[in-house]
Amino acid sequence: MAEQNGRGPIRAPRGTELNTRGWQQEAALRMLMNNLDPEVAEHPDKLVVYGGTGKAARDWRSYDAITRTLSTLKGDETLLVQSGRPVGVMTTHEWAPRVLIANSNLVGDWATWPEFRRLEQLGLTMYGQMTAGSWIYIGTQGILQGTYETFSAVAAKRFGGSLAGTITLTAGLGGMGGAQPLAVTMNGGVVICIDCDPRSIDRRIEHRYLDVKADNLDEALRLAYEARDARRPLSIGVEANAAQAVPELLARGAEIDVVTDQTSAHDPLAYLPIGVAFEDMADEAAKDPEGFTQRARESMARHVEAMVGFQDAGAEVFDYGNSIRGEAKLAGYARAFDFPGFVPAYIRPLFCEGKGPFRWAALSGDPADIARTDRAILDLFPENESLARWIKMAGERVHFQGLPARICWLGYGERDRAGERFNDMVASGELSAPVAIGRDHLDCGSVASPYRETEAMLDGSDAIADWPLLNAMVNVASGASWVSIHHGGGVGIGRSIHAGQVTVADGTALAGEKIRRVLTNDPGMGVIRHVDAGYDRANEVAEERDVRVPMREG
Ligand code: NAD
Repeated sequence: MAEQNGRGPIRAPRGTELNTRGWQQEAALRMLMNNLDPEVAEHPDKLVVYGGTGKAARDWRSYDAITRTLSTLKGDETLLVQSGRPVGVMTTHEWAPRVLIANSNLVGDWATWPEFRRLEQLGLTMYGQMTAGSWIYIGTQGILQGTYETFSAVAAKRFGGSLAGTITLTAGLGGMGGAQPLAVTMNGGVVICIDCDPRSIDRRIEHRYLDVKADNLDEALRLAYEARDARRPLSIGVEANAAQAVPELLARGAEIDVVTDQTSAHDPLAYLPIGVAFEDMADEAAKDPEGFTQRARESMARHVEAMVGFQDAGAEVFDYGNSIRGEAKLAGYARAFDFPGFVPAYIRPLFCEGKGPFRWAALSGDPADIARTDRAILDLFPENESLARWIKMAGERVHFQGLPARICWLGYGERDRAGERFNDMVASGELSAPVAIGRDHLDCGSVASPYRETEAMLDGSDAIADWPLLNAMVNVASGASWVSIHHGGGVGIGRSIHAGQVTVADGTALAGEKIRRVLTNDPGMGVIRHVDAGYDRANEVAEERDVRVPMREG
């Protein structure tokens, strides 16, 4: 077990005893600690939670100062966190967030990886990813449902609603990418998952996200064909460099139906170039970051070229939000953007309804609390069959990492109902302790990211970053427990601005009021953002559900 700065492994407190002056502060403390629980974080010894170098706190001194401050923070005070370091405590009021977080933000012209790394080395910033630095990462499950939804949409678009009898090829079995095998098998399909780090493969097998490990590509293909022919779901991990293996599979004429990728391509120092042994990767990247970046980009160009080759051969191919097309393009590969990103291809219609990755964690630590909230969701939305299928499968198959948690995509007019129900359940004692309700930054109205969430917007507003800032401000104004604004996230420095919120259901009437506002206004941002961009579905939703948009009035 990795030591965490000379102490034992970090684990969030469980139960109802407070270590702070109130549940809002307690939730922030527990969720920060939970992010760094070795069961949750990819590299807890380095404060890295997921997504390449996404960290929960800048350094161990900052971590200690944050936890110390949260333990005495009053109910009318707000802690300010600047890129993982606590920099001030201000007197505010009880409706204000207890923590405000800004991570990795840089002024436009300075928003490049080399400049970011220079500042990081000076100890002035850290990479916050999306939910790492905003303390609402819940392990691989967090991405599982979104990935499940995406593969369902692929199945609906190309394969008659199921992936049974198809083979998907992908790479990257890290914190997020590790959801892919289970998401494909939940949709009935077969998947070959390449990763250069044997630990990533073993970890996913241990967590039951991945079924088997093949010794080499030959064995992987043999197992895949057998399962496909029997229309049996199967996920197969294989250790290889994707920049070599994907072109090799293409050259062999492998029968692949769907291709995507979730290596850490957004950060060229976290993508293994051809010719570098995995064991030497960290040293080589540290020794010569610029040279390594160039080599990684060239390898990504080979990788993307092969993905385009599979598309030319008839496969369904999409970028899964890791910037691999952008990096391949930087290396000079002209056809890098020949295949689409997953958001315009499958997810945008959901965003128009304010749908996105709603999630919650049981601060009690008791899995029975999540089982009760699962039942509440089924009870609240009986007409939603795919939601019911997800909640049932998640209850059976998802291995909790750290504090028990659940994710499901809910939209405008749904999240507030779920949140209020949870708050009532805390108040009545049906849940044994409060619940932290948050979401990914990858949401309908909280992100500007031209290679991902806002790729190919109808009105060309892909790079307009006012929306996430308005989103953060409206969540502060509505009573969220903590709010964050980040730059970089899943697509890398210079490529996105996004915001997050977490609101704690502690069973009080005040929390109920806050929840009603936050969980209405937060997804409401998704509806108005897409109305503004001219999406018909968003206009219908605004009309049906009374979302006020001044430009539609009068
Ligand atoms: P991670 O760092 O935890 O894991 C990345 C994995 O890729 C590691 O296991 C690593 O060994 C492997 N890898 C690196 N180079 C490789 C190569 N050349 N060949 C084979 N394997 C290689 O990252 P993560 O949290 O899993 O995220 C993966 C990517 O997906 C990131 O770029 C992230 O920003 C992006 N992402 C996308 C979404 C989405 O919504 N689609 C959400 C979150 C993250």
